[in-house]
Amino acid sequence: MNSKEYIELAENKLLHTYNRYQIVFDHGDGVYLYDLEGRKYLDFVCGIGVYALGYNVKEYNDALKDQIDKILHTSNYYYNVPAIKAADKLTKFAGMDRVFFTNSGAEAIEGALKAALKYAYNKDGCNDHEIIAFDHSFHGRTCGALAVTGKKAYREAFEPLISKVNFAEFNDLESVKKLINKKTCAIIMETVQGEGGIYPAKKEFIEGVYRLCKENDILLILDEIQCGMGRCGSAYAWHAFDVRPDIMTTAKAVGGGVPVGAFLLTERVAENSLVAGDHGTTYGGNALAGAAIDKTLDLFESKHIIDNVNKVGEYLYAELDKIAGEYADIVDHRGKGLMQGLEFDHPVADIINRALEKGLVLINAGTNIVRFLPPLVITKENVDEMTAILRECI
Ligand SMILES: *Cc1c(COP(=O)(O)O)cnc(C)c1O
Repeated sequence: MNSKEYIELAENKLLHTYNRYQIVFDHGDGVYLYDLEGRKYLDFVCGIGVYALGYNVKEYNDALKDQIDKILHTSNYYYNVPAIKAADKLTKFAGMDRVFFTNSGAEAIEGALKAALKYAYNKDGCNDHEIIAFDHSFHGRTCGALAVTGKKAYREAFEPLISKVNFAEFNDLESVKKLINKKTCAIIMETVQGEGGIYPAKKEFIEGVYRLCKENDILLILDEIQCGMGRCGSAYAWHAFDVRPDIMTTAKAVGGGVPVGAFLLTERVAENSLVAGDHGTTYGGNALAGAAIDKTLDLFESKHIIDNVNKVGEYLYAELDKIAGEYADIVDHRGKGLMQGLEFDHPVADIINRALEKGLVLINAGTNIVRFLPPLVITKENVDEMTAILRECI
């Protein structure tokens, strides 16, 4: 069967929750993807920030294959070595104390919210606590994650979701202060907003939120699912600021391609929130996922991934700035490291479709923003290749 025939079958069988681009990807190598007919594409999306190390990395593949030959899954009622190693490495990499592994980002958010609600419940025995979240935020599609997601259209049909959530304006500290009351138990935010349009938190803002949390014993939950894992030039994006979250979430790139997520806690929150029986998962922290995280973190170090992000990220920033100066319909350029966006004064679907025709994979963030989320191993030459095609498409 060819791509066209597979797409027809998909349209008849899959639930229609996505408007997909008319491509069937078959395999990848380095920073390139290949479709079923063998056409080559430069990839500036990497599965939405998942394939940080690029495709078909031998050491990573071998580690997974070895684990598959041993065991995939044991249940969390027993220990498995890959997950223990992954927990040790990930807590150190993140600068947090304890971790709970999940299978996805949304599940990590669910766990983070449950931990915050339990912490507040342990303090006063009440269960009417409130959470502050932000406009333009995106935290996932399960009911709890949806409850703290800023875009009303994503939530409306499913409300009421969880306990009261109040939305403040991102990068506006006063709007947060106004919403704080004695029922506020947590503030949840992305360090750099992804899906909502690539908005980095300003230093004064994130440090201000952190201080407000400390002063009021409110837990700060940082969602690093997209912006973390080196993407913004430090292991986690919050490391660039004078803050430390009480709970943080990670997913997407942390497994290097295998579906995994995690929420991490400080010892203080871990000791005063979820206990045995409060939370669980069948698959979370399985041996295959553990092996994937363990090897991904090894390769981050041995391949100096974060150094590359800083070097190439700076170059990408300069090159996109040039492009922003060349076209009147580009109204803003934002981002950090290898997480950047160009905002246009019109929808960008046509630009993205033209890019795909020319062998460049890009994705939007909101309707008017082209988002750049390449594998973290890209080179300056890859950036030049991308900008040359992009100019033809604008
Ligand atoms: C992708 C994303 C999520 C949800 O992750 P899933 O694995 O799709 O459930 C949550 N938060 C942020 C910031 C994300 O980018």
